Amino acid sequence: SGRLSGKKALITAAGAGIGRATALAFANAGAQVLATDIDAQALASLAAEHASITTQPLDVTRADDIDALVNASGPFDVLFNCAGFVHAGTILDTDETGWRRSFTINVDSMFHLCKAVLPGMLERGKGSIINMSSVASSVKGVPNRFAYSTTKAAVIGLTRSIAADFVARGVRCNAICPGTVKTPSLGDRVRALGGDEAANWQSFIARQPMGRLGEPEEIAALALYLASDESAFTTGTIHVVDGGWSN
Ligand code: NAD
Repeated sequence: SGRLSGKKALITAAGAGIGRATALAFANAGAQVLATDIDAQALASLAAEHASITTQPLDVTRADDIDALVNASGPFDVLFNCAGFVHAGTILDTDETGWRRSFTINVDSMFHLCKAVLPGMLERGKGSIINMSSVASSVKGVPNRFAYSTTKAAVIGLTRSIAADFVARGVRCNAICPGTVKTPSLGDRVRALGGDEAANWQSFIARQPMGRLGEPEEIAALALYLASDESAFTTGTIHVVDGGWSN
């Protein structure tokens, strides 16, 4: 049987990129997956790819919608908080709106989702929460990622606190810190830079010591491990998967 057979998983931002690759990896490992995203069209194409994936639109900035979804569809064995927003610039380029938006999407969302799923996990004495951070966080200072890195460092604090509070009650909580991964939103950021697109891709690749970007499936493999009972002795830890970028 599969590495996740018998488990029910909730994933945010599952329509594209790392979240989508993870939904497919979880389903292929035998999990029942509830894949959520704000993009209903992306969800429809994902649901068509695997019989064990059901989908529901969810904007992670809407706390009431989160509670309603978990009340209707929980309890869950696994929560993968994947949704995140990249604000570009230094502190001098960051206005109050961009700063608040970064916290709303990247941190407040995880507060609400973790709080919503935890009671169901504690009741059954088991659960694995996986939070998407980044190497751009407390792990490494990255230029022009001021608001983003601040929120992703907050994700690490949130993760370790939850892990510490519930370590004796069967619930684990870990964070994933990817380096640069080839996803649709990275493509958007590359095009937003303007000028020569090929040269812009090269600039992202050039900062990777391995000479290539990560693939979403390489992050999904780590999420699968953290979701499964293979990682039962692991909680409160920060898992860097970055092709050696932060080394
Ligand atoms: P992506 O940007 O390619 O896809 C993001 C998905 O999120 C889209 O389907 C979009 O519709 C959805 N989304 C956007 N706003 C949403 C909201 N408010 N509620 C629900 N869904 C929403 O994704 P990605 O690049 O795989 O990034 C996923 C996560 O990984 C993010 O938290 C990101 O910060 C993190 N991350 C990415 C990289 C990278 O290089 N791609 C590196 C480190 C960390």
